[in-house]
Amino acid sequence: MKFYDMHTHSRFSFDSTMSMEAAAERAVSLGLSGIAFTDHLDVNYMADGSDVYYDFGDYLEKVSEVKESFAGRLEILSAVEVGLQPHVVAENISRLSGYSFDYKIGSTHLIGRIDPYDGTYFRKEPDRTAAYRRYLREMIGNIGLYHDYCTVGHFDYIVRYASFADNTMYYDDFSDEFDEIIRLMLKYGLAFEVNTCSYDRTPFDVRVLKRYRELGGETVVIGSDAHEYGRIGRNFDAAAALIEYCGFSYIAHYRNMLPVYERI
Ligand SMILES: [Zn+2]
Ligand SMILES: [Zn+2]
Repeated sequence: MKFYDMHTHSRFSFDSTMSMEAAAERAVSLGLSGIAFTDHLDVNYMADGSDVYYDFGDYLEKVSEVKESFAGRLEILSAVEVGLQPHVVAENISRLSGYSFDYKIGSTHLIGRIDPYDGTYFRKEPDRTAAYRRYLREMIGNIGLYHDYCTVGHFDYIVRYASFADNTMYYDDFSDEFDEIIRLMLKYGLAFEVNTCSYDRTPFDVRVLKRYRELGGETVVIGSDAHEYGRIGRNFDAAAALIEYCGFSYIAHYRNMLPVYERI
């Protein structure tokens, strides 16, 4: 099938050194049909309150340059991963206004202003159920407050940094929270992202995706969340098989903020 990697980070992200050209070459060599560069806008993210951002004008100029040089070989999509927090809604809106992207992801990275990646969060919330539930409640609040994007990013972001005997976030343990998230996604027309970043180590519970389908969801997107070349397109065949198993016949990518569906 035609695969689009709809979640990657280039040098415009503070935590990646990947050049767009080399990433695109890698995508071509893997036989992908397209790639979206979803660099980070995370307002008030750092511990000192500072932002993670880049100049959208420079970014869009670079994307159009790469788009031109890969024309006919690989589709290059402009995108942004918007970091959600309850108190930065107005700032996100004002930062993004006046710029057009093909695609936008809304991602919850912080829980009460703490990113779980450095372990502090889990020291405060050592219980798996409590830690995960708090993350999902934070996401519910964020989506309710701001939903001007295409896709909800990595619903299970937190599992990447967990060190429990079993890190999987099971639908049955959080069915109320997942149902609420899915209802918000359907209400605001948001796609489900299968983010393959953590799936080498932590399998995701297919019940979550099946539930999205049961409640009427139709739009599933795949992204690797690659911050380095080797992770581009990672585990896409396995992800596509899971998506099909959950009852979907299509996988989507976005262009001009509208979904385009490719048959699996
Ligand atoms: Zn993210
Ligand atoms: Zn990302």
